[in-house]
Amino acid sequence: MDNCLFCKIVANKISCFKVYEDNNILAFKDIEPIAPVHILVIPKKHIQSINELELIDKGLAGELLLKGQKIAKDQNIDKNGFRLIFNTNDNGGQTIYHMHMHIIGGRQMKWPPG
Ligand code: 5GP
Ligand code: ZN
Repeated sequence: MDNCLFCKIVANKISCFKVYEDNNILAFKDIEPIAPVHILVIPKKHIQSINELELIDKGLAGELLLKGQKIAKDQNIDKNGFRLIFNTNDNGGQTIYHMHMHIIGGRQMKWPPG
């Protein structure tokens, strides 16, 4: 996708602090962290949001979740707890329209979210 910020990060046209990469997935630090640990996990394939996820992507969706689990463990936030978040469309607070999973942790979270 030409005009997508996260596709540009995948293509190395915009730099990021990489945490993990394989053929299907990229994880990198959020540029404006809202917690001591704030990492974004994205599919390399351009999928606009959870709304556009299709059955054919079910393996990819599973990989995102399992990678969230692994990164949380590597970041040592698994025991104390953390959140995996997919902001979706306007009401969900999505600002970048390339599906991504936030991993946030390292502090006490509040509920309900704002
Ligand atoms: P959303 O609001 O769409 O759920 O989350 C988008 C996230 O991307 C935000 O937390 C924002 O800080 C992060 N972000 C926006 N631009 C960049 C960038 O150029 N690099 C990185 N690493 N993160 C970004
Ligand atoms: Zn994209």
